[in-house]
Amino acid sequence: MTMRLVVAVLAGSTIIAGASSARTPLLPRAATSADSGARLVLLGTGTPIPDPDRGGPSLAVVVNGTSYLFDAGPGVVRRAVAAAQRDSIPALRAPNLRYLFLTHLHSDHTLGVPDVMLTPAVMHRKGPLHVYGPPGTRALVTGILRAYHEDIDLRIHGLERGDSNAYRVLVHEVAPGLVYRDSNVTVRAFRVPHGSWRSALGYRVDAGGRSIVISGDTGPSDAIVDACHGCDVLVHEVYSKKGFDRLDSASRRYHSTFHTSALELGDLATRAKPKLLLLTHVLFFGESADEILGEARSRFAGQVVMGMDLSVY
Ligand SMILES: [Zn+2]
Ligand SMILES: [Zn+2]
Repeated sequence: MTMRLVVAVLAGSTIIAGASSARTPLLPRAATSADSGARLVLLGTGTPIPDPDRGGPSLAVVVNGTSYLFDAGPGVVRRAVAAAQRDSIPALRAPNLRYLFLTHLHSDHTLGVPDVMLTPAVMHRKGPLHVYGPPGTRALVTGILRAYHEDIDLRIHGLERGDSNAYRVLVHEVAPGLVYRDSNVTVRAFRVPHGSWRSALGYRVDAGGRSIVISGDTGPSDAIVDACHGCDVLVHEVYSKKGFDRLDSASRRYHSTFHTSALELGDLATRAKPKLLLLTHVLFFGESADEILGEARSRFAGQVVMGMDLSVY
């Protein structure tokens, strides 16, 4: 059986079938909220720059033994397994990765998509992977399945006798508004301005009595203020304004159009009023974590924390 024979398109979704641990820096562990029923696990807090201490952008919300991934940067599955082992979170073991939400399709946020599609399948995921993302997500997933069709065919029909169900991917291309709800979580998407991307999304996740807002990549936006509005955690991308000021004019133009400085973020947080502002996707531009924290704190009196891979909130 070839992949072509088992591709079926259903209303609103495409079902496609057949077709050494990551370095774990010893980091201070954040205060956890294991009792709250919803844990936020930072899997990767990096950018396109391949920093070995910061995996590609990805985080997980874990509720009642189920994990929901947001973005899939390089190394995502190994970081998830590291978190599963370090903090005893079985929901982040590879076979249990079943839900993935994408903010946008920039490569630093999606290079781990084939990893999330295929590695858990090899590890005997029970059932298909659900992928939610902006328009273009279906083409991305379909292209990955095409690229790997020989591998998938061999794993299912070769001596491994892999379960074809584990290799199925259900794609849901979403628009702003309610995109997902089950007994654990409600996920709403909102549009954010990320330079010239036609569709870049942020997400608000309500789970276990907590509200978590994920900025994705964005310039400063009222959409963040509206989505957060006193939320428990705002996870927001950031760059150093001091470092930015040393960049050449073309780089300044790019970053000021696509991203948010720590000063701008501080102003934004003052209006959004998160109980915790968590910095991720950090563009240091040669500056230190303390410098960036200082910039944000100069404009926001609330709690600000520099996100680190594998920290749990
Ligand atoms: Zn990015
Ligand atoms: Zn981006």
